[in-house]
Formats: sequence, structure tokens, C-alpha cells
Amino acid sequence: MSFEQLGLSTPLLKALSDAGYRTPTEIQKKAIPAVLAGEDLLAAAQTGTGKTASFVLPILQKLSSHREDQPALRSRSVSALIVVPTRELAVQVEANVQQYSKYLELTSMALYGGVDIEPQRAQLAQGVDILVATPGRLLDMAYQRALFFDDLEFFVLDEADRMLDMGFIGDLKKIISRLPDHRQSLLFSATLSEDVRYLADTVYEDAVEIAISPKKKVAGQIKQWLITVDKDRKSALLSHLIKELAWDQAIIFVEKKHSAAKLVEQLAKRDITADSIHSGRSQASREATLNEFKSGQLKFLVATGIAARGIDIQDLSRVVNYDMPYPAEDYVHRIGRTGRAGKTGEAVSFVSKNDFKNLCAIESLLGQIIERREIEGFPIKKEVPVSILNYRPKNRYR
Ligand code: AMP
Repeated sequence: MSFEQLGLSTPLLKALSDAGYRTPTEIQKKAIPAVLAGEDLLAAAQTGTGKTASFVLPILQKLSSHREDQPALRSRSVSALIVVPTRELAVQVEANVQQYSKYLELTSMALYGGVDIEPQRAQLAQGVDILVATPGRLLDMAYQRALFFDDLEFFVLDEADRMLDMGFIGDLKKIISRLPDHRQSLLFSATLSEDVRYLADTVYEDAVEIAISPKKKVAGQIKQWLITVDKDRKSALLSHLIKELAWDQAIIFVEKKHSAAKLVEQLAKRDITADSIHSGRSQASREATLNEFKSGQLKFLVATGIAARGIDIQDLSRVVNYDMPYPAEDYVHRIGRTGRAGKTGEAVSFVSKNDFKNLCAIESLLGQIIERREIEGFPIKKEVPVSILNYRPKNRYR
């Protein structure tokens, strides 16, 4: 299914194509048609599933078509209100709104505490189509009559479970009580716990419920992120991360045995002691190295996927995919070595342009886009595009 088939308008399709999105994610396939049809929604979806676009896109579409037959915004009015738990999320969601609405004549704003209130008040005075806000500052502004909700058409509660964990229930109830009854409401949450359902009951009477489950379970306590990097800068990047982030320990996966030995040498040149296990070493020496690593004497172990199969290391804090694995299932196995027994773990992947198909296959398998981070001093020359989700690997590549 394509974004066109979901019924999105040309300006949105153009913005999505600029963003590099090619196919809708599961939550987008389910939520976009429901929101366009005017349904209230209770949706279970985690970060990384594309949930933000799943509510922002249909809201933009509906608002822009309403705007065609309605007078301009009134001062201090808000057409769509998106409430989020943190200021970081407010900034991020509003950036998404701007990205998707670049070919539309709609205004947006992020509203959060901890910064000067006056510029925010001035911006609200103009009226805002889409306001992304944290609960505290939003209520402040409402009490001060810096904004009003009479013209509100859409209300979104994003990451509802996190808001409850952060103790926002009182503020949320106050916000909800100020909203007009005639509105469309959407509630998104990673989990639909009893508390979330109770909150949902205060938002609407009846809602369409949708849920998506990650296709392959990766323990929630594993933090996954990736860095796109040119192939020839990988070893410099690894040394940089080890030093800058003061990594205590890592198992570093490479594809080929000769690259394992080479990487150990490259690290040594930068004063980092590592050792390797691969099929070119005897069983006894592999075991000795492994024991050193387990005891903590050796902090960085470079391993080929094959040599590492079946080794059991408990309490590993970090897995690095120096080369992206193939097939995609290997990714899940590799990162499953960290974050065990309820502990937190980290899985960091280095992705070069030639890994693009592997990345598509992995993210499709996970049903999730892995967070990308940029590291200062490592700009990429050969860009890695955004993944095609629902990618079906063919054995042809590689
Ligand atoms: P979210 O779950 O909303 O935090 O989105 C996670 C990431 O996925 C964000 O970086 C989005 O830009 C990206 N994303 C959302 N939808 C798609 C899509 N259909 N194709 C590719 N990337 C997407």
C-alpha cells in the first residue's frame, strides 16, 4: 500500500517524498484512514513506529481543506492541539509538523516551559493552526487567556502512558475539561494499561481501537541507535565513541575474519586494547580470549558473527554492529546479547551506503525505524537514504 492509496493530498505526498518516505508504516496504514474518516482513536504504538506522522498527516489534510472554506484564524485560537509529555518531544513533533506541512499554508508552534513566556504569548496572539504543547505551560497560557479552545477541531494526547508516569493526570483532566465537546480526539500510548484506558474514558465515549505489535520482539530495555558513516571512517568513529562516551565494554561484530584482525590493529594504534575471536583462531585461544572478556580483563572484543554464535555472555552493556549483519534475523540475535534480565543495554550500528538493503530488511523485520544519531566530526559523504519499510529481501543482493 502506498501513501497515495491512503488518500493523502498532493502537497503532503510531495513533502513525504522530500522526506524520503516511500511506504507507510503499519500504524500509518491503520490510523490515517480512520482519522480521515473522522473517527476518535485509541492507538497502541511505540516510538519508532512512525506514529507521529500517523496522526499529523491526516490532521494536516483535514485542516487544510477546512481552511479553504473558512475565514482565517482568529487571534489566540488553536485548531489542533497535540499534548506531549516533554519539551524535547514537543520540539520534535513540531519539527515533523513543519516538515510535512511545508507545501501547505498552515502555522504551527511548540509551547513548553522553562523558557521566556512573552515570545510564546506574542506568537499565540496570531492564532495557531497546530499547537504542540507540554501540559504545564499550556495550562498557564490558558489561565492567562493567552489562548482559547473555542475553534479547536482536533485534540491529540501523545505518549499518554508516559504522561501518566510523569504525574500529569491532574493537568490533563484540567485541559480536557476546557475543550469543546465537538472535536475529534486521538490518544496514542505505547501500552494500553488500565490507567491509560481510564484516561481515555475522560477524553471520549467511544473510540476505534488500533494496535500494532512489533513483528519481532526486541527487549524494550535495549536502546538501539545507528550512525551513518562512510566505510573508510568506521574505525576512527569507533575509537572516537569509545573515548568520548567512555564506553566501559563492548562486543563489536564484523563480517569477515580478516577485518576482525585489522580492526584490533587499528584500535591499538589509537591506544585501545582489543582482541578478536574468529574462525581463523584455534578453539583454545578463542576460549581464552572469551574468558578474559567475561572476567572484565578485556574490555573490547571484536568478533565475527559465526565465531560469536552460541557464546553466552551475561550482563553485556553494549553491542556494536561495526558491519550490518545479513540476514536481518542475525541483527535481532546479536543485540539480544545485551539488555538481558531486565538490565538496560545498548545496540549501536554503523551503517554505510552499501548497507542500505540490509538496513531496510532489518527495520522491516523490526517494524521500526532505528534512531539515527549524528556524531560531530563525522559528516557522511555517501548518504544512506531513509529505509523502505516492508522491504522483502531477495537473495540476489550480496
Ligand atoms: P516516530 O515513531 O513518529 O517517532 O517516528 C520514527 C521515525 O520514523 C522518524 O524519524 C520518522 O521520520 C520516521 N518515519 C515515519 N514514517 C516513516 C515512513 N513511512 N517511512 C520511513 N520513515 C518514517
